[in-house]
Amino acid sequence: MNDSRAIAYFSMEIGLEAGMPTYAGGLGLLAGDMIRAAADLKVPLIAVTLLHRKGYFYQLLDASGWQHEEAVEWAVDDFLQELPQRAAVTIEGRDVHIRAWKYEVAGVSGFKIPVYFLDTDLPENSVEDRALTHYLYGKDQRYRLCQEVILGIGGVRMLRVLGHDEIARFHMNEGHSSLLTLELLDEAARKARRSSITRDDIAVVREQCVFTTHTPVPAGHDQFPMELVERVLGRREIYDYKDVFCCEGLFNPTFLALNLSRYVNGVARKHAEISRSMFARYAIDAITNGVHAATWAAPSFQALYDRYLPGWRQDNFSLRSALSLPQLEVWEAHIQAKKALLHYVNRETNAGMDVDVLTIGFARRAAAYKRWELIFTDLERLKKIARQAGNLQLIFAGKAHPQDQGGKEQIQRLVQAKEALKLEIKIAYLANYDMELAKLMTSGVDIWLNTPQPPLEASGTSGMKAAINGVPSLSVLDGWWIEGHIEGVTGWAIGEEGREASASHDSVTEATSLYDKLERIILPMFYRERDRFLTVMLHAIALNGSFFNAHRMVKQYVLNAYAQQPGNHKVFAG
Ligand SMILES: *Cc1c(COP(=O)(O)O)cnc(C)c1O
Repeated sequence: MNDSRAIAYFSMEIGLEAGMPTYAGGLGLLAGDMIRAAADLKVPLIAVTLLHRKGYFYQLLDASGWQHEEAVEWAVDDFLQELPQRAAVTIEGRDVHIRAWKYEVAGVSGFKIPVYFLDTDLPENSVEDRALTHYLYGKDQRYRLCQEVILGIGGVRMLRVLGHDEIARFHMNEGHSSLLTLELLDEAARKARRSSITRDDIAVVREQCVFTTHTPVPAGHDQFPMELVERVLGRREIYDYKDVFCCEGLFNPTFLALNLSRYVNGVARKHAEISRSMFARYAIDAITNGVHAATWAAPSFQALYDRYLPGWRQDNFSLRSALSLPQLEVWEAHIQAKKALLHYVNRETNAGMDVDVLTIGFARRAAAYKRWELIFTDLERLKKIARQAGNLQLIFAGKAHPQDQGGKEQIQRLVQAKEALKLEIKIAYLANYDMELAKLMTSGVDIWLNTPQPPLEASGTSGMKAAINGVPSLSVLDGWWIEGHIEGVTGWAIGEEGREASASHDSVTEATSLYDKLERIILPMFYRERDRFLTVMLHAIALNGSFFNAHRMVKQYVLNAYAQQPGNHKVFAG
């Protein structure tokens, strides 16, 4: 197979269908959208991930609102095709055998991108090794390091066994796959008929690799003690290249990826800036995330765009013309999406929500920095707003990571706040947030709320999904919203403009701003100036849907990251 233009795209999680629980959240869905958009644009990507047979989890809440988890048993062969080839990696001195399952993502004109899911659950492996690909972000550090070996080293070996032997670029989506560089170094040495690696090999590998970082806090980057690394991987020459591999007795996959990539980017302009301050020696560019428009548009909006903006599926920039859409039909498409959501909410939770009431959506991982409770800072004020400025109802969703006690407490407090406000404001919490529910929610609410603690939201993508459906954001200025926000045009900011760079984000001030915007601007406009509200909806599509989509993102990766010429963005050698 001749793949001399192909790009191998490695990601620990990839979200392709709601029925395949192989993703935890934003990172995996971004990977899925990247692949879908590359297929539309006929960019020759080949994707590699792990199978996660005990899918990222089924969420149960008990009567007190506490989250419990169950593995999702899913019928792998209903979705994927098993391939006969086998590869192997050495872990703790043992051979661990790997099989691959294939999924194909077809683009709008039928161009296909293969996605390979690596799986060690084979009879020739020990019981323990068979479980190594079962759990996404599972168990302990050793388990996660073994997974990184399988993804990175096993992934490259599997690609070679499958006949992909002339790949031009290896793209690491987050640092989990950075051990792939070790396999590429060994390949480079073998090709030069040497048994040990040299600085020349490092230069050759660096020219092949691209790295996207997603994590704006140092604590979010994995670190493994070198003794664990040596136990799992064995002794390797690369450890002696301290400037490339190892810092102070710890292996940091992010640094390995930074040191061995020709091009590095963060996922929004602000995030790239934060990343440059965290990793001062590296040139870090920005490619702001985008979402795959045809995947995230509700059926009613797909039909509307097919009618008035034909070609939008091939070319998402067509959404730029959304200002010419007939307002009445946009409202009808919105009401259809809203009814689909409220029907689901009422069936699942018996919340009795009403399609005429302004509905706010909030769905994301239950992590402390997402500040789920900002809107509940002052319950009396919130009730007064609902009484005087106009009624509102709130829909929440999102899982806590199984080991995140704080996240689980947040969900529990939300369920309790829901009871306390029951008589004044209808609130629903929907379990098992996944792709399908995200699509229902981002298209079916009137306002998409986002209240992260800056600068911890690297990009955020759910607000982009909302924009594709004409749903304006009401959001703290962080991540992508710094770029997408035009006050009163594409949505509204929480907090003062121009303050996004400051470190002192005070929740009380921001809650006050959130209440002010709802009370003085959004509720009056929604209930009494519907045509103005519709104008904001149209601008969300025309200005943000047309730009914060995955077609634009993939084009930027092609131009800036994958381009054959070594670019200006070259990472400095150590
Ligand atoms: C889009 C999406 C996310 C990421 O949303 P953020 O805005 O980045 O928090 C997470 N989970 C699901 C199921 C999604 O569809």
